[in-house]
Amino acid sequence: MSEASTHNNKNRRGKVAVVTGSDRGIGRAIALSFAKSYTYSGIVVSARKREETERVAKEIEDMGNSDSIAVISDVSQEADCIRLIDETVKHYGRIDVLVNNAGIQQEVPFEDTSVEVWQKIIAVDLTGPFVCSREAVKHMLNQNPKGGCIINISSVHQIIPKPHYVPYATSKAGIEMMTKTMALELAQDNIRVNVVAPGAIETDMNQELKEDKAELDKVLRRIPLRRIGTPDEVANMVEFLASDKASYVTGSAFFIDGGMTLYPSFSSSIDSGKKQEN
Ligand code: NAP
Repeated sequence: MSEASTHNNKNRRGKVAVVTGSDRGIGRAIALSFAKSYTYSGIVVSARKREETERVAKEIEDMGNSDSIAVISDVSQEADCIRLIDETVKHYGRIDVLVNNAGIQQEVPFEDTSVEVWQKIIAVDLTGPFVCSREAVKHMLNQNPKGGCIINISSVHQIIPKPHYVPYATSKAGIEMMTKTMALELAQDNIRVNVVAPGAIETDMNQELKEDKAELDKVLRRIPLRRIGTPDEVANMVEFLASDKASYVTGSAFFIDGGMTLYPSFSSSIDSGKKQEN
C-alpha cells in the first residue's frame, strides 16, 4: 500500500494503531477517524475478508495523512493474532494503540446453545482480544518510549443481560473485567486500558432492526435519545481515549448508548424470550 501512495504530506512521526474487525461497521469508522486525526503515521486495518480489508486500507492511504496496511487475520486463531501484531511491528517498528473491535453474536436459546457455538463466540469476542492484547503488550513494554493504549469494544450487554445471547453477553462481561485487571497490572508500565461499550449502532450487526419496524420501535422505546447511534459516534470516543488528551484515563468503561443504561430497570424490561404459559 505505502508504495502505491501518491501523497507526500503523511504524518511520519505519529502513532501506530491496529484496529481489528475494521473492514466495515464500527471498526472501519475507528480506523478512518484515526486517519482524519492526523496523529497516526501507520494504521493497520484487519479482518478476514481480503478485498474489503484492503479497500479500507486504501481509503486511508487516499486520505493522505497516514500510511496503512491491510493484514488479513481471524482473531479466533491464536497464530493469526500473533502474526497481526508481529506484522505491525515488523512494518512500522512499534505499536502504540490496539483496538479490539472484531466481534460476532448469534441468537440461540440457552438450552440449545452447543459447545461449538459457545466456543466460536468466546473465541472471537473474548479470547481474540486477550491474545491480541497479550502480544501487543509484549512490544509496548519493550519499545522506546515505553507504553501504549488498548481499547476494548464491548457492549451495553457487559452489564445488561441479553436473553438468547448468553455467550455474547458473557464475553462482553468478561472483557470488562479483563480491561480493569489489565489496567491495574499495566498502569506502572504506562499502558492504559479502557473499554467502550456501544448500545444499538447502525451496522450490519443490527441489520434485522432495519428490516423489522416493530422490533426497531421496541428498541427505540428503551433509548432515551430515541435513535440508533452511528459508527462515527463510537469512533469519536475511541479516538479520544487513544489520544494523549486521555492520558489520565485508564480502567474505565464508556457507554455510547443514547442513555440506554440509565434505566435501572432496563434488564427487567427486556423480554425473556420465553413464551409465557397461561
Ligand atoms: P459488524 O458490522 O458485524 O462488523 C464486525 C467486524 O468484525 C467486521 O469487520 C468483521 O470482518 C470482523 N470479524 C468478525 N469475525 C472476525 C474474526 N473471527 N476475526 C477477525 N475479524 C472478525 O459489527 P459492528 O456492529 O461494527 O461491531 C463491532 C464491535 O462492536 C463488536 O465487538 C460488537 O460486539 C460491538 N458492538 C456493536 C453494537 C452494534 O449495535 N452494532 C452494539 C454493541 C457492541 P470479517 O467478517 O471480514 O472478518
